[in-house]
Amino acid sequence: MRCARCGAHLPSAETCPDRFHAMLEADYRGVSRAFEVHGRVVFTYQAQHPSRAKPWMRAAHRAGTNEIFGRGRDWRAVLADNRRSGGVDRSKSINGAGEMPVVGQPVAGEQTIAEIDPAIPAGHVARVEAWARSVAEHRFLGD
Ligand SMILES: [Zn+2]
Repeated sequence: MRCARCGAHLPSAETCPDRFHAMLEADYRGVSRAFEVHGRVVFTYQAQHPSRAKPWMRAAHRAGTNEIFGRGRDWRAVLADNRRSGGVDRSKSINGAGEMPVVGQPVAGEQTIAEIDPAIPAGHVARVEAWARSVAEHRFLGD
């Protein structure tokens, strides 16, 4: 099945939400590789499927992605700062002009969730990192 939002080609009837939820379930089951990249998976999935994210979330994701990939800050530090400073309230005050678009569209050359194995094999962290970086470079950096 091809996703109209991100362009992913997934086997048979599987959808992007199916794969996303499989990764979240692995996290909840205690699979450490899934836990380690939880924030990156959520950020990146919502960047490609933004209609499910609220405006303040889209703004927070865009700002966080720029800090991580544009300024080279560590994911954990960015997420921890966001929690410490009351990320929700701060994000709500970000001007709407900085939000991600509401409707996702495929971007040529960008990686998708189809490249992330939901069985969470060895190398999962590096694959999620490459997917997140690809989305950041194609959608957020340099604007
Ligand atoms: Zn998709």
